[in-house]
Amino acid sequence: VTGRKLRVAVGGFAQESNSFTGIPTTLADFEGRGGELRRGEDLVREHHGVNTVLGGFVDGLLATGHEILPTMGARACPGGPLDSQTYRTIRDDLLLELERMPYDALLLSLHGAMVAEGEPDPEGDILRRVREHAGDRPVVVVLDMHANVSPLAARLATAIVGYRTYPHIDMADSGLRAVKLLEQVVGREAEVHVGYRRLPLMLPSINMRTDDGSGPMAALQRGAQELVADNDELLELSLFAGFPYADVPCSHASVLAFSTRDQSHADSVADEAAERFWVSRKAFEKSTVPAEEAVRRALSSSERPFVLADVADNPGSGGTGETTTLLRLLLEHGARNAFVGIIHDPEAVKKAFATGVGERARFSIGGKIEPRFGAPVLTDAVVQQLSDGEYTCAGPMLRGKRERLGRSALLRVESVLVAVTEGRASVNDPNMLHMLGVDPTEPRVLALKVKGHFRAAFGPLVARIIDAEAPGASMTDFTQLPFRNLTRPLHPFDPLESWRSNS
Ligand SMILES: [Zn+2]
Repeated sequence: VTGRKLRVAVGGFAQESNSFTGIPTTLADFEGRGGELRRGEDLVREHHGVNTVLGGFVDGLLATGHEILPTMGARACPGGPLDSQTYRTIRDDLLLELERMPYDALLLSLHGAMVAEGEPDPEGDILRRVREHAGDRPVVVVLDMHANVSPLAARLATAIVGYRTYPHIDMADSGLRAVKLLEQVVGREAEVHVGYRRLPLMLPSINMRTDDGSGPMAALQRGAQELVADNDELLELSLFAGFPYADVPCSHASVLAFSTRDQSHADSVADEAAERFWVSRKAFEKSTVPAEEAVRRALSSSERPFVLADVADNPGSGGTGETTTLLRLLLEHGARNAFVGIIHDPEAVKKAFATGVGERARFSIGGKIEPRFGAPVLTDAVVQQLSDGEYTCAGPMLRGKRERLGRSALLRVESVLVAVTEGRASVNDPNMLHMLGVDPTEPRVLALKVKGHFRAAFGPLVARIIDAEAPGASMTDFTQLPFRNLTRPLHPFDPLESWRSNS
């Protein structure tokens, strides 16, 4: 660390793209509906003190006295690939803002699993353009643990920091680590060697949680951190699991090691980490419970609240957030005191607002975007509560972040409460229920559009959680999906003896 005060440009552009969902991601998804598009001081205000990557950048730079040059922070809920116009508009805006800034170094918060119409590797494309302008100034990037890191992105960033936890409760920490890393590399960029290993490996995230410390990813991350702690020249070792619902050539796991010693050091660390990753691949497999059986188990259990995690329609994995299988089954089985949500359905929200609290009307709920995953539920319902859809995250993930889901409503169908919103988001924070007047510990059964992240906040509140598999765009067994663009061979699609078979 030189002690020199740096002018650091800060920006972000992040979304995780599921190629198999019927919703393209558009500018409206960044500007509203649970997304975010902030510029300049507004970005700093929104993220200061908040558990986001941008929050980590801001807080880390403030603490070390470097100058923050905020550019633009864009984020949307996972969903379909960005349409070409949306991608180019935000990318070019971000690049323009960066080019206006007199920066010494650059910090970028990207996701790593974005896909855009006509652009299978947006992060590589963004970094290529950024590098054209940045020249040899340091560009340090933070990516999600589920990033599909391309060779281009690996080569162009000065260093890449990945989240170490899932649920992702270390977003701000990752931002802080990036600031520290930036201080270590500034002025000596030529000394940073990257060891990048692509693994011919596509992993499900269903057993990737690190929070109870027992899973395969927890063990891999511990191993990686030990290597970093034991070696001053190893700046960072990041493990990327990949995002299996992006149908692009760089969809696969990867590891990146950044060393100041030499290239062979970076390569040998990356080899070691890749080997550990590969041998643990089978430990990531975990079975889910078919929806019908899951609902029966929940209704016959005395444990409450009993959570049915609707993993195949998790918006955080790019699910449409509006499939109806669990709702339909709960109604068919006469469930008492159940909550289902949050279902993305602007039409139902509109109707609820027109109907008014306490009034009854005929509703069509969900099933509109991807009818192949189940038809809408047509039913009478009473409007129980209306909300502007704004809440502040209280759980460990995104703590302090103000979220804006769009207008939202709580409907009562017999003894089942159904939450509907204009936006789309995984139910990862209890305040999403509180904003509609629901105490999350009150219902007997909670059928939630979630996968792993919600456990950070809901785990301590509920008695039991099972992964309920219903039809949806983020089905656990992704080998059933009609991929066309993957780099093969790839585990588990092809028999492979070694991760080096295709590297
Ligand atoms: Zn992730």
